[in-house]
Amino acid sequence: MTTSMTRLDGQLLLPGDDGYDQARTIWNAMVDHRPRMIVRAASVADVVTAVRIAREADLAIGVRCGGHSGVGHAVPDGGLMIDMTPMGGVRVDPVRRRARVAGGALLGAVDEAAQVHGLATTAGNVSHTGVGGLTLGGGMGWLARQYGLACDNVESYQVVTAGGEVVRASREEHPDLYWGLRGGGGNFGIVTEFEFRLHRTGTRALSVEYDFPLEQAFAAMRAWRDLNEQAPRRATFTASLGRSGPATLGFVWVGDPAEGRAYLPALGALGRPAQTRVREVSYVQLQTREDSVQGHAYRRYSKGHYLRALPDAAIEAFLLRGSPTGHGEHLPGVGLQAYGGAIDDVPDSDAAFGHRGTLVEWGAGTRWTDPAEDDVRIAAARHTAAALAPFASGVYVNAVGDEGAAGVRRAYPADKLAKLTALKDAYDPDNVFHLNANIRPSR
Ligand code: FAD
Repeated sequence: MTTSMTRLDGQLLLPGDDGYDQARTIWNAMVDHRPRMIVRAASVADVVTAVRIAREADLAIGVRCGGHSGVGHAVPDGGLMIDMTPMGGVRVDPVRRRARVAGGALLGAVDEAAQVHGLATTAGNVSHTGVGGLTLGGGMGWLARQYGLACDNVESYQVVTAGGEVVRASREEHPDLYWGLRGGGGNFGIVTEFEFRLHRTGTRALSVEYDFPLEQAFAAMRAWRDLNEQAPRRATFTASLGRSGPATLGFVWVGDPAEGRAYLPALGALGRPAQTRVREVSYVQLQTREDSVQGHAYRRYSKGHYLRALPDAAIEAFLLRGSPTGHGEHLPGVGLQAYGGAIDDVPDSDAAFGHRGTLVEWGAGTRWTDPAEDDVRIAAARHTAAALAPFASGVYVNAVGDEGAAGVRRAYPADKLAKLTALKDAYDPDNVFHLNANIRPSR
């Protein structure tokens, strides 16, 4: 399309245009930002053009892939939104076991294209999450204990920099940028293509969930914690507590379900569950099973912590959620997902990602529809997070929400933050890309 300013392969949307409201609507219905313009980028040239237009007009840039940023970084109020979703293609080379993934692709597109060949790479647990935001922050998923985080599986990136240059970052080219893109978020440029390594994962998985009433859950969770220390890499231990239901403990197994079943007797150590659910699923089913519960159009608030240990007091705080009884109308759902395995095989200095050595990630999430509940929901989630805070070692950068600079300091240890700041000085000294967990330039 031609605008008064330039030619685009994609589309320029202004307030009032058909498609404008759809393009600015993201996962969290609390976000109601109105960009001055939206470039629906269909090519690398469009991304370069959009960056140039925004810089010339001094408009804040928001980059949208899956639209899952809970605080709505992707949609700049009064700024220029670069909607990457028209660039959603995935090309798999099954012989070299590589996937070239365009910068606006969703996780589901990668899983589907790779699974045709019995291949996969680490991706998150909800298929409508964007490859862009997830991978740039690290990228945790059911394959991470076998193959590392999503970012650990990226061979190279094609990037549009703040200066409008198109560069490739890999171990050989721009290795400093390659380091920063593996965990440093959207601070250093707009990724137009990720080149992922794929693995022969097969297409099968096993999901194991044992329910315990709250009174028995303390003992069961202590046993769960002890088992997790020795768990095979194919198993990712999980724990969750819904709004008023029982505590659910178990694991997800990616690989031959029979091998996963062979591990089940170990769970006898947990005690007697009230209910058990052991399900063989395809890998694609596993990767989409949370899509509806994590669907769009709800108001949302979430908090996260990383924990390097799970002492008994942390288990108690997890189960009680900051309430004396563990019950309460507005308490958020909470969950734990185990890290470790191949995530910790990668030397800490290898990438910007800040928290190798994490034992488990804790997350709290709450959803509602009535704006009148905003304050009470948010307060309850913050209160629950505060109860876990004494046990936390930091936070996943992709779980940083409304904490601003304090959240960024929790996401990276001081030495990494200093290195990231130097990289920001080199690649984006004017902080063009600041709508993210922002690494501020030093000047
Ligand atoms: P967007 O809002 O589109 O983008 C977020 C930010 O990423 C943008 O503001 C921008 O700074 C940057 N960005 C996105 N694309 C690009 C690009 N191409 N180039 C440069 N910068 C870009 N995380 C996990 O690790 N594992 C999970 O299993 C997981 N599950 C989740 C499930 C749900 C329902 C939600 C809401 C989040 C989940 N997350 C998970 C967290 C997720 O990684 C972050 O929310 C992430 O930012 C989402 O990326 P996105 O592309 O969908 O979001």
